Amino acid sequence: MTDLQDLYQELILDHGRRPRNFGKLEDANKTAEGYNPLCGDKIRVYVKVGGDVVEDIKFEGAGCAISTASASIMTGALKGKTRAESEQLFKAFHDLVTGHQQKSETQDLGKLAVFSGVSEFPTRVKCATLSWHTLRAALSGEGEVVSTE
Ligand code: ZN
Repeated sequence: MTDLQDLYQELILDHGRRPRNFGKLEDANKTAEGYNPLCGDKIRVYVKVGGDVVEDIKFEGAGCAISTASASIMTGALKGKTRAESEQLFKAFHDLVTGHQQKSETQDLGKLAVFSGVSEFPTRVKCATLSWHTLRAALSGEGEVVSTE
């Protein structure tokens, strides 16, 4: 295992234990719930959208370290981003964890790059992408429960 992988693992464990932006966002105007039956991860994402910008974002839920860390790092990455930028990040992140990453996408990922190792564990991909699918449902205003199945 390389040092970089150790560092990545540290970050995931840290965010899994002490998730950032955790809790209910009282003035959210978009929300959705996500469920990953394969692992039992459950999440609710709250977003406050102003114009075209994600002004604030928080999440609640219970899940494994990867799903919690993914939601934690996602909320940090998306605050202040436009919808289009969020969509771009979703695509880059999805490509990363499914092992389809394009070279042009790497520079934008920042901390999200810690999930690169997930691509070697197909059953964990759904844990890592649950928060993103839920966010998408919230932004699109579907407001219903999304499932990874
Ligand atoms: Zn999980």
